[in-house]
Amino acid sequence: MLDFSFTPEQERLRQTLRAFALRELLPQYARWDRLRQYPKEQVKKICRLLWTDDPGDRLDLISAGIVAEEVARGDFNCVLMSLGPFQLREFLKEAPAALRDRWIAAVSSGESAIALALTEPEAGSDMGAMRTSAREDGDAFVLSGEKNSVSFLNADVFYVFARTEPGTTGPRGISAFLVPRDTPGLSFREYEDMGCRAVPRGQLFMDQVRVPATSMVGPRGGAFPMILSYLDVNRAFIGLKCLGAAQQTLDETIAYVKTREQFGKPISRFQGVAFPLAEAATLIEAARWLCYKILWKRERGEPCTAEGAMVKWWVPKISAEIIHECLLLHGHYGYTQELPIEQRLRDVIGWQIGDGTPQIQKLIISRQLLGREFAPET
Ligand SMILES: Cc1cc2nc3c(=O)[nH]c(=O)nc-3n(C[C@H](O)[C@H](O)[C@H](O)COP(=O)(O)OP(=O)(O)OC[C@H]3O[C@@H](n4cnc5c(N)ncnc54)[C@H](O)[C@@H]3O)c2cc1C
Repeated sequence: MLDFSFTPEQERLRQTLRAFALRELLPQYARWDRLRQYPKEQVKKICRLLWTDDPGDRLDLISAGIVAEEVARGDFNCVLMSLGPFQLREFLKEAPAALRDRWIAAVSSGESAIALALTEPEAGSDMGAMRTSAREDGDAFVLSGEKNSVSFLNADVFYVFARTEPGTTGPRGISAFLVPRDTPGLSFREYEDMGCRAVPRGQLFMDQVRVPATSMVGPRGGAFPMILSYLDVNRAFIGLKCLGAAQQTLDETIAYVKTREQFGKPISRFQGVAFPLAEAATLIEAARWLCYKILWKRERGEPCTAEGAMVKWWVPKISAEIIHECLLLHGHYGYTQELPIEQRLRDVIGWQIGDGTPQIQKLIISRQLLGREFAPET
């Protein structure tokens, strides 16, 4: 039977996080953008709220979705860190216990951050074209190559994908490793991004980086399906964080248009102002449930690849459009950095690309609809 309600515990979590986000995150959102730093102390507080009792295991998927939505209302860029322990639990499912214990504890406290290192100069949408190699050498692997779009470039540990089986191509022969930041042979170059500046993104160079064989996470040569499965769910989190930013902007705009007067009345009295708000509320409502449907399906062990792709191409797009519309409804004030709207727009747009572009998502959906034989070719 369908049930669109959250449990009382999930509702409590939502209220706690919303109050925290509006009180402690939102007032500082612009500051971290200017400083290009993430608010470590605030993230540690969120982690204490979420993870201390039973690190990495406490949250169900729906609650993790609530975290993405509510934290993004205050600071879009804190979501990645707040869900770090959850990601790690997924990544480390098949990892040696020592590795799990070390990193889950560190990331769950907010003390350490993890970054995903997948994209390469020649392997963006075509992830299987990856060239980074991991050569076996006794009880170690030696990694060489470049990852060129790592969010959280200042992380303490990198989840790196590399080819361990010489002669393989495409998705076969790829393994995953946890590589601590202080491992000799790593170097970094940061980008000047238009948004998400509190979470630096950039290049990770690996020059003969030696890691113990026990750093390998998941099956040797079989890491590709692992990451694809993770991405399906991560797309719900991306959707929900974009919607959190859009919903907060919509709430602020509703308050604004009721107080701003022109032509002798509140501007909310003009259809041209009220109808875009009505449209935004409709889109957010529909999109939220699509995101939660993914999480619900994954909890039940059902496939959610098509829904993940639907959310990924659609939800960041409508979120950016809603934020843009709300910016216009604030007139010239919306265009200033005194309000958080322009920053939200810059931040959300990046996630139309991050984790897979709209075209690639539509290819995934087309394949499901038409079958590979009749779907567009890559
Ligand atoms: C904010 C942000 C955060 C990111 N974070 C991370 C991260 O933490 N870790 C990580 O590894 N990566 C990360 N990425 C990288 C991201 O996943 C890639 O940028 C994305 O997969 C696309 O690859 P690309 O940029 O090389 O584009 P390309 O693959 O070069 O694509 C360029 C254009 O061509 C289109 N295109 C490509 N192939 C096809 C096709 N077959 N059919 C139709 N159109 C096609 C694309 O849709 C796109 O419009 C991030 C990116 C951004 C913007």
